[in-house]
Amino acid sequence: MKNKTLVMLTLLSAVSFASLAQTQIIAHRGAWKNTNFPQNSIASLNAAIEQKLWGAEFDVHLTKDDVLVVNHDIDFYGIDIATSTYEELLTKKHPNGESIPTLEEYLKEGLKQDEVTLVLELKTNKLGTERTLKAADLTVAAVKKLKAKKAVEYIAFSYDACVHLRELDKKAKIHYLNGDKTPRELKDSKLDGFDYNLSVLKKHPTWIKEAKDLKLKTNVWTVNSEADMIYFLEQNVDYITTDQPELLRTVQEKK
Ligand code: MG
Repeated sequence: MKNKTLVMLTLLSAVSFASLAQTQIIAHRGAWKNTNFPQNSIASLNAAIEQKLWGAEFDVHLTKDDVLVVNHDIDFYGIDIATSTYEELLTKKHPNGESIPTLEEYLKEGLKQDEVTLVLELKTNKLGTERTLKAADLTVAAVKKLKAKKAVEYIAFSYDACVHLRELDKKAKIHYLNGDKTPRELKDSKLDGFDYNLSVLKKHPTWIKEAKDLKLKTNVWTVNSEADMIYFLEQNVDYITTDQPELLRTVQEKK
């Protein structure tokens, strides 16, 4: 009888623990907004790491001479990345003095710790799908070379890139960004979940539950207002990607 009670209590506490599973915070382009560091700089990555968030997101582009670099826009202070060499990009600097980080430099910095997940957005190359897929090949190779597989999760707007990433690495975590696939379609393509714009998830209010029922991960970007933070915390999404990780943590603690 005593044993039965113990089993029941263990089960009950497991259930209540599961229901308390918290939405995790991902800093969008590192923690830059409240720190004044440049987006996607090594400094913004380290600021996200210092905040002990779940993840730090960053964007990866391919140069003309096949170097992977970390930046959001398709240009680095006016120099177009896809049609320029890495050497040409080094003629400009971030306002804090940093050069554009290569993917390898960025990953090496992130790998100095093992608590904050590195959320790697593979950017769509403006020169076409072939270059985007080449960027995927080189990215997966770099992650493998640096033994960063466990530290990295992938996101991409290009569905072709997501499917290609899955072919390259059967175990990688891959999430689709573009908002035009149902949870069922993502599951059928063996992707791990979605990372959709908040307007997409408001327009399709059943998708979060549908994804959860399919054991897909749910992530929403870019959630910066308190009202939207509360809306998605109440939806129990797995991750919220935000420019305001400090605010999201405060909102989460108040709830
Ligand atoms: Mg991004």
